[in-house]
Amino acid sequence: MSILYRSDAPRAAAWVRYFAEHAPDLDFRVWPDAGDLAEVEYLIAWQAPAEFIARLPRLKVFFSSGAGVDHVDFSALPGHVPIVRMVEPGIINGMVEYVSLAVLALHRDFFDYMAAKAARIWDPLEVPPASARTIGVMGMGALGCAVLERLASYGFNLRGWNRSPREIEGVESFAGPDQLQPFLAGCDVLICLLPLTAATRGILNRELFSLLPAGAALINVGRGPHLVDADLLEALDSGRLSRAILDVTEPEPLPADHPFWAHPRVFLTPHVASMTQPESAAPILLENVRRHQRGEPLADVIDRCRGY
Ligand code: NAP
Repeated sequence: MSILYRSDAPRAAAWVRYFAEHAPDLDFRVWPDAGDLAEVEYLIAWQAPAEFIARLPRLKVFFSSGAGVDHVDFSALPGHVPIVRMVEPGIINGMVEYVSLAVLALHRDFFDYMAAKAARIWDPLEVPPASARTIGVMGMGALGCAVLERLASYGFNLRGWNRSPREIEGVESFAGPDQLQPFLAGCDVLICLLPLTAATRGILNRELFSLLPAGAALINVGRGPHLVDADLLEALDSGRLSRAILDVTEPEPLPADHPFWAHPRVFLTPHVASMTQPESAAPILLENVRRHQRGEPLADVIDRCRGY
């Protein structure tokens, strides 16, 4: 049985170590030292370029090395090859940390104090309780639910919007396009944790911003193409939105002349909100390989038609 790892090179050593110790029966290879590609049955990769997949005639499962699969060319993978996305504690914890930090920084006016410090202004702002703020999460999936659970511990009012109805204790839930408007109407901070699909591309646009309370803030940790950049700039400049915290952009890296860089109310990070951690991801991936070997259903297989 051969597994080929063709992803983040600096983390390859940790994957090799785990498989050597816990699955010595599996032949774990790291690209480009891949040996005979015709022997590869499992592929761990970020992307699936058609010309490369064509060289893997015995491929049985494609494991995405990330949680999202929007960058994967499904058509390159034969229909009998399941596409498995990465759902593991390291990714979830990273996202929970990042979003908690972003929400708390907004809640406690850290961005205002950064500007005040630069101008040497001592100006205490009011400190409302967390219960005075409503935080809304778009996408109540593996990441959205974990984020909601942590935010609940701070005492925020919480709401979530999802494709299909989802009940979470302490979270006001909304579902489907019909309930998007009432969901948005109460969000002081809006967090996008949707997968990128035909239905969600460009969803963070002028019309959506007009449905938020004036002065709301946006946190986009989904994908860059969820956001219409020009509409965000307009909403920030008109005061409709107060701030945006963006971990993802289109394209990535963001070109040096993009207006987001210089905008005083846009905070940017270079797609680092959360990352696959080999130490916690390898055991989960190995368990999935074992399931496949035993002929059992795989966990975290994406639905090619839904796109996530
Ligand atoms: P997930 O478990 O697949 O959850 C996606 C959720 O979005 C599901 O609950 C789904 O609803 C909902 N959804 C999908 N399409 C929708 C639509 N049209 N309208 C409303 N709700 C919709 O995914 P996840 O693991 O939470 O990850 C979410 C996304 O986060 C990933 O796809 C990726 O783009 C992004 N991400 C970013 C980073 C980063 O570092 N910035 C890291 C990891 C992931 P249903 O329950 O009805 O299916």
